[in-house]
Amino acid sequence: MRQNRRTPGLAAVSLILGAAGAAAGPLAVERSIRPVPRPPELGQEAVMLATANMAFRGWIEGFRARALAQGISAQTFDRAFAEVRHEADVIRRDRTQAEFGKAIWEYLDGAVSETRIGNGRAALARHRAVLEAIEARYGVEKEIVAAIWGLETAYGTVRGSTPTIGALATLAHEGRRAAFFEGELIAALRILEGGDTTPERMTGSWAGAMGHTQFMPTSFLAHAVDFDGDGRRDIWGEDPADALASTAAYLRHFGWTKGQPWGVEVRLPPGFDFEQAGERVKRPAGDWALLGVRAMDGSVVPDHGPASILMPAGVRGAAFMVFGNFHVIERYNPADAYVIAVGHLADRIAGGPPIRAAWPRGERALSGEERRELQERLTARGFPTGGVDGRIGPNTIAAVRAFQRAVGMVPDGYASLEVLRRLRGEMPRS
Ligand code: CA
Repeated sequence: MRQNRRTPGLAAVSLILGAAGAAAGPLAVERSIRPVPRPPELGQEAVMLATANMAFRGWIEGFRARALAQGISAQTFDRAFAEVRHEADVIRRDRTQAEFGKAIWEYLDGAVSETRIGNGRAALARHRAVLEAIEARYGVEKEIVAAIWGLETAYGTVRGSTPTIGALATLAHEGRRAAFFEGELIAALRILEGGDTTPERMTGSWAGAMGHTQFMPTSFLAHAVDFDGDGRRDIWGEDPADALASTAAYLRHFGWTKGQPWGVEVRLPPGFDFEQAGERVKRPAGDWALLGVRAMDGSVVPDHGPASILMPAGVRGAAFMVFGNFHVIERYNPADAYVIAVGHLADRIAGGPPIRAAWPRGERALSGEERRELQERLTARGFPTGGVDGRIGPNTIAAVRAFQRAVGMVPDGYASLEVLRRLRGEMPRS
């Protein structure tokens, strides 16, 4: 759930790091703990926790009024918050998750491992009837639904045990993106008000994503379906039918086209103009063929509508021709690595080949601090990145490309360690 980029779709901050379903924090801070008078056995850490807990209790009182004003009943609210505690672990994870970047090949190694492919084929065989029924109703291929399930919760085995109300309340109280999380918290209360589940069963990741395919509460309200017809939309329980159908309904809502690939690995011709790469340039496959772009077996890629060329690790890694469905998967999580992982895992579950191109495995991904330094240095050198936020978006890619061109590097727009070193003046200019 990279809610900072666009209207929050579904879950998965944790997925960027490849660890779905955070467990509940071990710190059980009792409501009765008060810092004054200070019991002699209470250490500094315990005092801080107790203080945070008191502030949290105060915030809940204020939020209760806001929730009731938005139509949540007092009964629903009080039942939902009866057992809520400040989830200290949630804050720790929220503060650290943005700082560590994985290179796409490291991410894909875990996301599309042989184990996950094998488990995906087994899950598809086990749930074939329901996945085929979902495919028939929503027009989304069973392998794609299975791949999202596999990436989000390892096919339902790691759905997360953090209480959703507690996690969202902690994040809303903490303040960073408070409005977003308060909106999700209200949505979670509406789900409880509607009777789809109970506070005890409403669990998920530390960031508020719930159930087999990690829906955020607002996405649940908009898109979840009762596929098995028992009167409740249950994405939390053992039976994955409702969750898998909800995922298909979500993808269909955002324009999934059955029969269209998410993308195809391609070979670029010598002298390919890297200005043509990136999601902003879209051409029919025939036009790409005229420019010399071919599938890995040398054939011309069939026409599946407007397509872009992506090189997620720059010129030294794999290149993909991506189609409209790529952008539909982005609604689940906009990170290129995530979308490629979902698409490639689906292809592998269906029996497709591995990615053929090599990755620049000798390199490492930039840390958050290094990404911000890169943006600062690019901006200072006259290549504006549109801000210094540590996120490599279109503006930063364009700035990297312009810098690369200026210093005689291949202008692939990839924010590599080499680019940062050049900006620091650590490498001789060619
Ligand atoms: Ca149901």
